[in-house]
Amino acid sequence: MTAAKTTWYWSALFFILLVQASPAMAQFSESVKKFIIIQSDTLALTHAKIIDGAGGPSKSDQTLVIMKGIFVSMGNSANNKVPVNAKVIDCTGKTIIPGMIMMHEHLFYAESAGDYYIGQEMPISFPQLYFAGGVTTMRTAGSLEPQTDLNLKDWIKRGEMVGPDMDVTGPYIEREGFPVPEMLHIHSPEEAAGIVNYWAGFGCTSFKVYMNITRADLAAAVQAAHQRGLKVTGHLCSVTYKEAAEAGIDNLEHGFMESSDFDTTKKKDICSENLFNSLKALDVNSKAMEALMRFLIDKKVVLTSTLTVFEPNTGQEAIPGGGGDALLPQVREEVEKGYRDGVNHDPGKTSLFKKEMAWERKFVALGGTLMAGTDPTDDGRVVPGYADRHALELLTEAGFSFPEAVKICSLNAAVYLGIEKTTGTIVVGKKADLVLIGGDPETHISDVRNTEIVFKNGVGFDSKKIFESLKGTVGRY
Ligand SMILES: [Zn+2]
Repeated sequence: MTAAKTTWYWSALFFILLVQASPAMAQFSESVKKFIIIQSDTLALTHAKIIDGAGGPSKSDQTLVIMKGIFVSMGNSANNKVPVNAKVIDCTGKTIIPGMIMMHEHLFYAESAGDYYIGQEMPISFPQLYFAGGVTTMRTAGSLEPQTDLNLKDWIKRGEMVGPDMDVTGPYIEREGFPVPEMLHIHSPEEAAGIVNYWAGFGCTSFKVYMNITRADLAAAVQAAHQRGLKVTGHLCSVTYKEAAEAGIDNLEHGFMESSDFDTTKKKDICSENLFNSLKALDVNSKAMEALMRFLIDKKVVLTSTLTVFEPNTGQEAIPGGGGDALLPQVREEVEKGYRDGVNHDPGKTSLFKKEMAWERKFVALGGTLMAGTDPTDDGRVVPGYADRHALELLTEAGFSFPEAVKICSLNAAVYLGIEKTTGTIVVGKKADLVLIGGDPETHISDVRNTEIVFKNGVGFDSKKIFESLKGTVGRY
C-alpha cells in the first residue's frame, strides 16, 4: 500500500468503526475503572506471540492493531504498520490468546454440609475472578439463583461490574433426589417445559437438565428450548448419553464421566448407582465407548470437558495455581484438610481421570467437538479464574497441543454459542477480546498462570490487581 492509500484506508476504517456503536465507548463505574489499565481508541500490541484460537500453529513476532475495540490488522511486526496515533504496548516475551469462552462456570460455590450439599452464590467474587483468569465470555451451566445471575449479567454489560459476558443458564431442571436445598424440583415433563418458558422470558439463554430427570422430562425441555432457538445441556445420570442424544440434547457436561450407558444394572429413568464403577471397569480402548462417541458425533452433540473438577488428590496441587489465596481462611483450611485426607486414598480416581483424558482426545480425533469449563463444586478445590487457566494446563496434560487447548477454550465454545462472527478467535473484524500472558505457555505451560492484562472489547484490565483485590473473599460473597 502507498502512503496515501494507507491514510485513506485508516480514515475509512476509522469512519466505519465510528458509525458502529462501538463497545469501547462503554461507560464504566468507578469500581470498574480502578482495574482498567489500557483504554485507547487505537492500540498496537507489538512483537507478541499469537495463538489465534483456531487451533493452527502459533505465530511469533506479531503486531496486532485494535481500533475502537475491534481487531483491524495483524501481521509480522516487520510489515504491519502501526498507526501514528496508536498507544503501543511492547509485548516482547509475551503471548496473546483469545479471551477464553468457558462453559461450566457456576456463580455458586458448593460444598457438603452434613447430609446436604449446598451451593452458595458468590455474586461479587466469582464473576471478577473468572474475568481475571482470562474468561471474557462464560455460560453458567446451571443456576441456583437465576435472578442473581441475570442481574450480574446486566450489570457487567452496563460496565458497572467487572466480569465476562454471560450466557445465563436457567435453574437446574431436576426431580427430587440429590439433597441440594436450593434446587427447584419438577414433577412432570410439563413442568420441565414450564421452567424453560418462564425463565427464557426473564432472559435465561440456555438450560441444563440434571441427574434425576426422566426421558420425557428431557424431551419436553429440549422441545421448549429449541422452539425458542435455545440450547440444552445436561449433567446426566438417570438418562444415558445415547438416550439424551436421541432426544435432541445439544451438549453433555463432564466429558464421559457422567455416562451411565455402561451400567448394565441401570433401570430406565432412574439414576445409575454403578455409574463410576462401570466406567472404572471399562477398558480405555472399549469398542462400546467408541460406538457411543460415534453416535454422539453423528447426532452433533457437543461435549464439555471439566477436568478441573475431577482432578485426583494424589500427586496434584490442593488448590491449583494459587487459588487458595482467594478463599476465606476458614474455608481454605477445610478445603486443604479435605484434600490431605484424600491423598493416597484415591487410586481409582487417578486411573479414571487418565482414562477420561484419553477419551476426550479420542472424541476429538474422531471428529467430535469439545468445549471446556471449570465447575467450582465438588470439594472446593476449583476456584474460578485460577481454575480456568489450570483447565488449559490439564488439556495439554491430556495430550492436546497448546493451540488445540486454546481452541477448546475459545472458538469451539463461540461456535456453539453462535457468537463466532464477533469473538472466539483473533481475526481482523472481531471484538478485541484477548488475554496477554507474560511468557510462552506453548513451551512452558505453567506460564498460563501469568495473565497480565485481560482485554474485553479492546479495554484492558489488570488481571493481577483484580485477583489481589479478591483475596479471602470466596466462601463469603
Ligand atoms: Zn456443574
